[in-house]
Amino acid sequence: MTIFLSGKFLPVEKAHISPFDRGFLFADGVYESIRTYNKKLFRYIDHLDRLKRSLKEIRIDFYDFNSLENIIYELMIKNEIENEALVYLQITRGSVFPRTHSFPKEKISPTVFISVQELKESIEEQTKGVKVILQEDVRWLRCDIKSTSLLPVVLASQKATEENAAEAILVRDGMVTEGTHTNFFAVKNETLYTAPKSHLILEGITRKVVLELCEKFKIDFREEFINKDDLKSFDEFFITSTTKEITPVTSIDYWTINEGNPGKITMSLQSVFKKLVEDY
Ligand code: PLP
Repeated sequence: MTIFLSGKFLPVEKAHISPFDRGFLFADGVYESIRTYNKKLFRYIDHLDRLKRSLKEIRIDFYDFNSLENIIYELMIKNEIENEALVYLQITRGSVFPRTHSFPKEKISPTVFISVQELKESIEEQTKGVKVILQEDVRWLRCDIKSTSLLPVVLASQKATEENAAEAILVRDGMVTEGTHTNFFAVKNETLYTAPKSHLILEGITRKVVLELCEKFKIDFREEFINKDDLKSFDEFFITSTTKEITPVTSIDYWTINEGNPGKITMSLQSVFKKLVEDY
């Protein structure tokens, strides 16, 4: 596997970062996951804008955005990606000695790491639906930043894995925020509900596309928090992300929804989404 690390294409075995990299020491960095459809990066500008925003919010001075797209396509060639690709891009504040919490006084170069791999499509999950569990949202209060500091997500995700669930849906002060790596949607009386854009969720690119599709196809939606105790009053649920696209949720903890069948609105949105990306 060939990766890109701070200016160089390298076989992964030859790629090294300093133990003083602030990404390693403090998770002082941000990232993006992007996928291709028809070998083209999907909604690349949206991902780039989100990356720029994340960097700005944590005050990392990185401006060399123009070269990133070419590097990604170059990596696809070097890694002989035959089908669709999943791209991981991470930028940290860089490496400096000695370790100090505040930003280094001297100018340091951010560390840029990009990898691409063959994307595994989750077809079964998308047709049959998945189980999710509810977990307390113990993340920080800037979930709008795509930070590499993901320990609460790691622990919640592991709990989901141990309970044979595909995702943990997070609940803060009784309100459903989002999944560990997905946005969460519920449907009631043919209206979609999802948590509003705020510091409590990441504004997913797939979430954005779903809301655009709702506007196009005149499906009502509300950006509102749902109380965890009201979940049972909803008819359907689904989660969205770059890799999970639109995945129906068929059980939440021990509650099997709609006899374990994906919801109607969910599946019709999934099919218009599929059409959109097919033609991308
Ligand atoms: N919410 C969180 C916390 C995430 O980490 C992600 C993706 O990694 C998403 C939502 C979905 O975002 P996207 O649709 O851009 O993949």
